[in-house]
Amino acid sequence: MNNTSERQITEKEAMNAGKNGAPEYWRSMDQLADTEEFQSFMEKEFPQHVEEVKANPVSRRKFLKLMGASIALAGAAACTRQPSEKIIPYVLPPEEVVPGKPLYYASAYVHDGVANGILAESHMGRPTKVEGNPEHPASLGSTDVFAQASILTMYDPDRSQSVMGRGRITTYDAYLNELNETLSNQIETQGGGIRILTGTVTSPTLHGQLEGLLARYPGARWHQYDPVTLDNAREGSRLAFGEVLSRRLHIEKADVILSLDGDFMSHGPGAVRYSRDFASRRDGNDPDNMNRLYVIESTPTLTGSQADHLLNRRAGEIEGLARMIAAGLGVSASAGTEVDGDTTRWISAVADDLRAHAGACLVVTGEHQPPAVHALVHAINDALGNTGNTVTYTESIEASPVNQTESITTLVDDMSRGEVDLLVVIETNPVYATPADLDFAAAMENVGMRVHAGLYHDETADLCHWHLPMAHGLEAWSDARSYDGTISVVQPLIAPLYRGKSAHEIVAALDGNAMKKSYDIVREHWQTQAYNGSQAFETFWQITVHDGFIAGSALAPKAVSVGDIAAALGEPSGPENGTEVIFKADPTVWDGFYANNGWLQELPKPLTKLTWDNAALMGPSMAKRLGVENTDVVELAYRERTVNAPVWILPGHPDDAVTVHLGYGRSRAGQLGTNTGFDAYSIRPSSSPNFGGGLQVTRTGDTFDIYSTQDHHAMELEGLGSMSRDRNLIRVSDIETFKDDPHVIQEMWEEPDPKRDLYPDDHAYDGPNAWGMVIDLNKCNGCNTCTIACQSENNISVVGKEEVGNAREMHWIRIDRYYRGDLDAPETFHQPVPCMQCENAPCELVCPVGATVHSKEGLNDMVYNRCVGTRYCSNNCPYKVRRFNFYLYADFETPSLQLGRNPDVTVRSRGVMEKCTYCVQRINVARIESKKEDRDIADGEILTACQQACPSQAITFGNTKDENSEVSRLKASPLNYGMLTDLLTKPRTTYLGRIRNPNPVLEA
Ligand code: SF4
Repeated sequence: MNNTSERQITEKEAMNAGKNGAPEYWRSMDQLADTEEFQSFMEKEFPQHVEEVKANPVSRRKFLKLMGASIALAGAAACTRQPSEKIIPYVLPPEEVVPGKPLYYASAYVHDGVANGILAESHMGRPTKVEGNPEHPASLGSTDVFAQASILTMYDPDRSQSVMGRGRITTYDAYLNELNETLSNQIETQGGGIRILTGTVTSPTLHGQLEGLLARYPGARWHQYDPVTLDNAREGSRLAFGEVLSRRLHIEKADVILSLDGDFMSHGPGAVRYSRDFASRRDGNDPDNMNRLYVIESTPTLTGSQADHLLNRRAGEIEGLARMIAAGLGVSASAGTEVDGDTTRWISAVADDLRAHAGACLVVTGEHQPPAVHALVHAINDALGNTGNTVTYTESIEASPVNQTESITTLVDDMSRGEVDLLVVIETNPVYATPADLDFAAAMENVGMRVHAGLYHDETADLCHWHLPMAHGLEAWSDARSYDGTISVVQPLIAPLYRGKSAHEIVAALDGNAMKKSYDIVREHWQTQAYNGSQAFETFWQITVHDGFIAGSALAPKAVSVGDIAAALGEPSGPENGTEVIFKADPTVWDGFYANNGWLQELPKPLTKLTWDNAALMGPSMAKRLGVENTDVVELAYRERTVNAPVWILPGHPDDAVTVHLGYGRSRAGQLGTNTGFDAYSIRPSSSPNFGGGLQVTRTGDTFDIYSTQDHHAMELEGLGSMSRDRNLIRVSDIETFKDDPHVIQEMWEEPDPKRDLYPDDHAYDGPNAWGMVIDLNKCNGCNTCTIACQSENNISVVGKEEVGNAREMHWIRIDRYYRGDLDAPETFHQPVPCMQCENAPCELVCPVGATVHSKEGLNDMVYNRCVGTRYCSNNCPYKVRRFNFYLYADFETPSLQLGRNPDVTVRSRGVMEKCTYCVQRINVARIESKKEDRDIADGEILTACQQACPSQAITFGNTKDENSEVSRLKASPLNYGMLTDLLTKPRTTYLGRIRNPNPVLEA
């Protein structure tokens, strides 16, 4: 939706969501208000198209620039070089590169220091796609949006490409000369003037190197800082156990889960695995095994959208509620403040449910909640007997867990006092991303030699004497621990495009080993470790690199006992007065690291569906009180600092609180990321980096265009009004109703008589296969990973912010978000919508040139080079899943742009319609292999890109002619339904309706 969205919402409409003829499920507030904007998106496939083209032609140059940043890369020669060291393909022989046949290498993607196992696909030495490693415990074959998009970061032409010394391009040798001179001056003070700053380190090798360096220079200091801080979790662990431990959730074992402002499905170490574990207990076909999820949250999250019962409260109120629950479960801690009767009833019902499932329940909290809440959660789990069952504790997965806010503050103090002679910043951007009050940039001016190493010449590099390009994770050797401590090996697929150095090489240079390569450093580290057991080292190394991780290296659970937390916690502090500001990592650009990644910038954020911008998120009531509407610019004043931000009204956001996402407002991110959004770090203080009270919000009178995709491609039909809206596109029931009437989901809409078919024998499907897909709405949490995986697999272009404003985003699978209920506290549902591959496809009938045709296996194929761009097909598609390439979004003129793309998929040109094809290229690969071996394609042999990436395993694809296939089994489920089947389209993609598992006490 564009910048005028939700302006015309009346109080009546706002209050009557789901009542008085309004739709039960609503996509957006615009739909509720039936605004002109919504009508425009509903009635026109391509709103404003003609007018916009005439008034605001987008230049070819602009798109070249945009696409260059999306998937441009370095010189062709560099891209096809493989690393000189021996890397080991995941598959067994043939090891030789066979043109057209990709190889897969096991590796790890490291995000905020924590690894997830991946398989990287390589075509002729070019990495083209990232998948999860099915053997890796953190992945089990799935990924997240960051791992999927990491390939684009590697090919980003805006990555730094040269060693810079005092503003000029120079050589690494020149850097080493100055470094050695500076280091020689440190001998006398034993390195007292040396400071190294990294993000969170879990790499055993890097830790070993840093320890070695600190032994050589005992006066030196190593600091760690990640903007998305886990300090509260560390301090909470200290409060409860007296030491920093890592907690590992066993969600699959929990019958009842309470999340206290946590977002375990999309945030923090283990989120991919936790999504899978949670979904494993949300099988609507196995209702007796379903878990129940209670969530209290301060900002709407994906985890909250899966809740059976949801309370939205300000972040500062959570501790009081946690204390109430603790008291109700016999944990000795001072009680929280008084709450209203409904909340008391809610808390009491949750406590009863937890008690009734003692030992098989789980309480979790979010990293941004204060240490007291973490400690309370540990104590509650302990009191319920969950410790050792649904939650275990291990030594910290971090190499050296420290309070990072204290660490960075100490560094700034040392720099301010002029005590630092050499500062080496590795893979972090403190000038941009540290708390505003620290003024890192000013303190850094006192440092004699400032060195920055990173993928980008960013805000910190700009203020350093030296900048060293770093190697991307797909370009260099390393290792790191996963959420459970499993040690993963990072294996490069390609030699560094820009001769970047790894963190290992940069630290080795500090230690006098400048010529040492990361391959040797990592290998040598493991040669000194005991993990090889009785194996010869070479055998151990081969197996480890082949598998991508050291088998059995997960950290062992530790026996713990919770101390006297009542004494440790003291009296509850209560929420701070005034409007609350909540600082959160952005769902797509995170802390700003991904700001120049076009795929992530254009990926609609899971709940707001905003692209290319952040916003001041607030609830409808607060917006109404302030008299602001979407896109109105407000001044946010917090602890004597101010920033201007556009408003976005987020249904379900607690009142009197504003959430701001970090990661935007960059001044040196690259062509795409610079000057997008506003900089929330500029008002983020070190004293309350997560949330705090006292925010002043003032309307400025300005507006700023931000674009949400929520109402694009709406499936309502012109002229049908509410009847069109209430066609049960999304279907939800509760468990008791479902048990009483297993067909309740299918009965929500009248199914057409299958005999009413104008073309009953049109498609014979006389081959062995007819493909179909089922998407389980019980499991989908709206994480968007499928969308990015599809984009990466199918060479889908980004179009830029302006074109998103014109509803021209190209994603082949969109995730529709629906609300139900009150504007201030609605339930949220997600529905992935790819092409339905209709058996009676309305698109096929209207194409004048036969560019969209039905295959013998049931696919609705696109023949791109026949398409003449009439767009009749798209207008006739009731699901609105076809995407028209209005401009030449992909660059055909720069040869290097080809290298990052999937060679098995066409790169579409201007004037061509494109859409999901069930990854027909993957079907073809399986068909060829099965023919060669004279066999049928096995069930599960073909995984579509979306299916493979999905952390929740919500998508199932397979042969509907095989009665025993998983997809056939799901299609036979009483939960199975198709969208808009009354149109007799016979969609091959169907859904499993969502079953809620509410607590009868609270439903009463
Ligand atoms: S279907 Fe897509 S959005 Fe839903 S959980 Fe899977 S990857 Fe995420």
